[in-house]
Amino acid sequence: MDSGFRRNDDRIRFLFWSWYETSYERLWQMTARALVLAFVTLAVVACAGNRFHITNAPPQIFAPDIHGQASDAPLVREYQGPLADAPDVREFAAQADGLRLEAIAHNQRMLGLPDDFAPFTRVVLCDRPDSEDANMMTVHVDRGAQRHAYVLVYANGLVSKRCKPHSTFVHEVNHTLLSEYLGPAYDTLPQWFVEGVALHCAGQTWERLDIQLGYELWRSNNEDEASLVAERTCDGIGAEHGYDDYAESALCVEYLVNETPDALPRMVAALKGGATFDDALREVSGKPRKDFELAAHKFALGQAKIREGGRGKLVFPLMRTIRGDELHAEDFDSEKERRVALEEITSLGSLQQEASFATPVLRHVAAVSKLKSETFSQAAELLEQFLAGPQGAGPLTGNALEALALAYTGLGDHDRAREACLRLIHGFNYAPERVEWAKTQLSKLDPP
Ligand SMILES: [Zn+2]
Repeated sequence: MDSGFRRNDDRIRFLFWSWYETSYERLWQMTARALVLAFVTLAVVACAGNRFHITNAPPQIFAPDIHGQASDAPLVREYQGPLADAPDVREFAAQADGLRLEAIAHNQRMLGLPDDFAPFTRVVLCDRPDSEDANMMTVHVDRGAQRHAYVLVYANGLVSKRCKPHSTFVHEVNHTLLSEYLGPAYDTLPQWFVEGVALHCAGQTWERLDIQLGYELWRSNNEDEASLVAERTCDGIGAEHGYDDYAESALCVEYLVNETPDALPRMVAALKGGATFDDALREVSGKPRKDFELAAHKFALGQAKIREGGRGKLVFPLMRTIRGDELHAEDFDSEKERRVALEEITSLGSLQQEASFATPVLRHVAAVSKLKSETFSQAAELLEQFLAGPQGAGPLTGNALEALALAYTGLGDHDRAREACLRLIHGFNYAPERVEWAKTQLSKLDPP
């Protein structure tokens, strides 16, 4: 991982890319990533004056003072960057103190850390550096024998609503606690265990699985590929570990805990006592690591298949229908076929009520179709159905956000239109032209 901090000092290492919500445009935009981030940064500064009544406020990028004393570090640094007045940022800042204590207590219990262990873990609200594409991040500094960890909460991530702040924060605090408690031994743990434990403890396993299944479906090119989304989501535990591996990692930890309910406290205690990871895993699970990983993979794949439930085959033909219609509008028998398409979308929309993995795809479908020639009011109503529910604060495709911004603008609901634009501008990995579009659209809206 490449970061400015690392270049400055080896003792500071970015431990983990934080849990983040997948961008569904990412694949198309990999080469444009640097450009996107540059646009986002420009947008933050450019929009600050209008949006949040702060002019020319410089971005605030946090770097721990490695030579400073720990006691100098604030619990929550006062954030004065361009997004300081954004409601999401203010809300998080107001709650941060309490959230920190709650998250520490929760993770301390889940990991079985002793009561006399007093974590340092500090919360920092700051702007996201251009080099990052996470919503929150954990970093640590070794000060002598003591390890001090910080959870960086990026204001941009809060404003773009690309993560659920509370569960993401609990996830990050899980990293900081384990890192502080185990010290350098923590750095030797396999990533699937580190991330899987954090996902498990933050209650993110099944949501992560849904998102990954949806992502694999989204990037399927045909029905054959779509029928293998579970296999692609759980493709085995390897040495390499990226975002796409989070779901399987979480399921492996679920397997461990299913088999041995007190596995995590016992693992932590064994590691603290000096055991290697392999020895600790063998002691707790009763299996050599290789055997455990094979069994865990089998469990993970089975769970992914159950969750997928054959829906890939249901969704794909619908997407083709709608795309075909979009490509050949002149062949579209207007009223009747439009009705059929709308009914199909609406019936699939009920899957969203069960937090179906297909939700991101359905959102995409709904947005791509733009509901043909429905009125703005009807469009907004149907989109609302897709956006309601437990994943409402989750990631949205650029298409969906653009459709929302247009629908709300048409309805004269400028507050919600503005929110959709801001989510595009402050999110990451949205296409540069989409961000530009959002900035233009924003300028046409009434001021808040
Ligand atoms: Zn993590």
